[in-house]
Amino acid sequence: MAKIYYNDDADLSIIQNRSVAVIGYGSQGHAHALNLRDSGVDVRIGLNEGSTSRAKAEAQGLRVLSIADAAKEADVIMILTPDQVQAQVFNESIKDNLEEGDAIFFAHGFNIRFGYIEAPEGVDVAMVAPKGPGHTVRREFEAGRGVPDLVAVEVDASGQALQLALSYAKGIGGTRAGVIETTFTEETESDLFGEQAVLCGGMSHLVQYGFEVLTEAGYQPEIAYFEVLHELKLIVDLMVEGGIAKQRWSISDTAEYGDYVSGPRVIDPSVKERMQDVLKDIQDGVFADRFMKDQASGGKEFAELRAKEEKHPIETTGRKLRSLFAWEQTDEDYTEGTAAR
Ligand code: NDP
Ligand code: MG
Ligand code: MG
Repeated sequence: MAKIYYNDDADLSIIQNRSVAVIGYGSQGHAHALNLRDSGVDVRIGLNEGSTSRAKAEAQGLRVLSIADAAKEADVIMILTPDQVQAQVFNESIKDNLEEGDAIFFAHGFNIRFGYIEAPEGVDVAMVAPKGPGHTVRREFEAGRGVPDLVAVEVDASGQALQLALSYAKGIGGTRAGVIETTFTEETESDLFGEQAVLCGGMSHLVQYGFEVLTEAGYQPEIAYFEVLHELKLIVDLMVEGGIAKQRWSISDTAEYGDYVSGPRVIDPSVKERMQDVLKDIQDGVFADRFMKDQASGGKEFAELRAKEEKHPIETTGRKLRSLFAWEQTDEDYTEGTAAR
């Protein structure tokens, strides 16, 4: 059984007695910084000159410095820029500002697991990774709850790295929900697999094919949208509450029987084999290498894929429908149809 920590297992005063730099003020950055600040932690934000997030961070009452100055001032540096730029940011602005006794923190193990970042001696390397989008991390905290976190220690130079990570997790609200201990390797590989094979990659393409099959057979796109996309949330909510079993308990007998006889026709053992291939590419660093090489040459493949996927007809139908119904509240910094993040 995995080790799980709650509020009583973490001492908030540890992080309250350190000085924290949050590097980046995006999805995770704003949530960590505001939650820590509200937990009585001394936080500053590190951003590039001319960063578009600067005004937002300042408007929310946070002190913004250059990345180098923030790293120099702080002794716990949480790196929350996108994964593909972390190594460059680290080498240019953070590495030389680290001293013995400092700690570098991550919310995902990618750069440590695949060796793009190497910490100097005497520096703790730890992870506090919320298992939810940054906007949920902030929203739940404000509601008095928390999003579960994973914690991991890669380098325990101080001998206190786990207690420090748990204290940080308490500061962002994670121990209110529960914090599971893992390793950088396990977190990185399982996180990439989950998002590629099931949550993002698997689900998106399953929904797109379902939509294509119905519309190509002459059904109205609006009906297809409801059947294969909109209702997904209701099903997923039931799964999160009580597993696949609760979902099957709640749906009609017709739907449940159809699940058993038709599900395995669509998702057959060959899908599992291809999932194993995806996992192997993650473990061998093949995926990381492809992603980082594309990023290094300007993210051309990434941009092409994003543009192509955005043109899928389900997006047009969805945009139209969502504007006609009143159920969706979008996040303030997401603009429909631009993939702006
Ligand atoms: P975002 O894409 O939201 O981060 C954007 C921030 O990084 C902005 O402040 C941006 O500045 C800054 N930034 C972008 N490029 C650079 C650069 N070259 N140099 C300096 N700063 C830069 O990141 P996420 O919050 O999505 O991810 C951060 C980390 O958290 C990653 O390790 C990710 O894997 C992990 N994570 C993310 C989750 C999520 O909910 N998104 C969930 C769990 C973990 P500007 O304003 O100037 O653009
Ligand atoms: Mg991920
Ligand atoms: Mg139905």
